[in-house]
Amino acid sequence: MVKERILLIEDEEDIMTLMKYNLEREGFRVETALSGEMALRIARENLPDLILLDIMLPGMDGLDVCRVLKNDKITMRIPVIMVTARGEDSDIVSGLDIGADDYIVKPFSTKVLTARVKAVLRRDRYDDVPFKDPVIRIEGLEIDTIRHRISVNGEKIDLTATEFGILVHLARRPGWVFTRTQIINSIKGDDYPVTDRSVDVQVVSLRRKLGGFGDRIETVRGVGYRFKE
Ligand code: CA
Repeated sequence: MVKERILLIEDEEDIMTLMKYNLEREGFRVETALSGEMALRIARENLPDLILLDIMLPGMDGLDVCRVLKNDKITMRIPVIMVTARGEDSDIVSGLDIGADDYIVKPFSTKVLTARVKAVLRRDRYDDVPFKDPVIRIEGLEIDTIRHRISVNGEKIDLTATEFGILVHLARRPGWVFTRTQIINSIKGDDYPVTDRSVDVQVVSLRRKLGGFGDRIETVRGVGYRFKE
């Protein structure tokens, strides 16, 4: 099997050495960069399969690096996992809004690190065949994205266009966290919400209408929402 290549961007050498060791032990090939500037050069030349990006870097910070990567046609498809310190929720939101694929909060265990890396790599492969099935089925929840119909345990439920849009966006990618801005951008109906607050209001109503499935729409504090796997 071909080893998947990870570019690890971390300025603290102890942490970098440990992460590199653990990822290599899991069978990945790991390249490293100590700065954002260096990372961008390596990313363009070597096109890694995934990038692990520390946010707090000297010089260009991780958010700037992510922005450049996601705006460059050559590197925009490479999945990026941001590595942040606890309490930097606003950085997580900014990172996801500019296209980062996931985040992981320091300190993390080796198990969490490798699980996230594998999940994002798997996700990336799924993305190549996007949403062929127009009907999403999750246990008793059935969403027909073409006829705009939804039922819970066989019972039809009426949703507004916006509520429907939010549900489809979240349910198509169970486990992914989306910021409010990403949710707003994904639904461009006539009555689409224009503020973070109105997304919250829509989610409250959506949860109520979904009854027993309502708690599948999970609030990720300080970041946004996700559909529980
Ligand atoms: Ca750092």
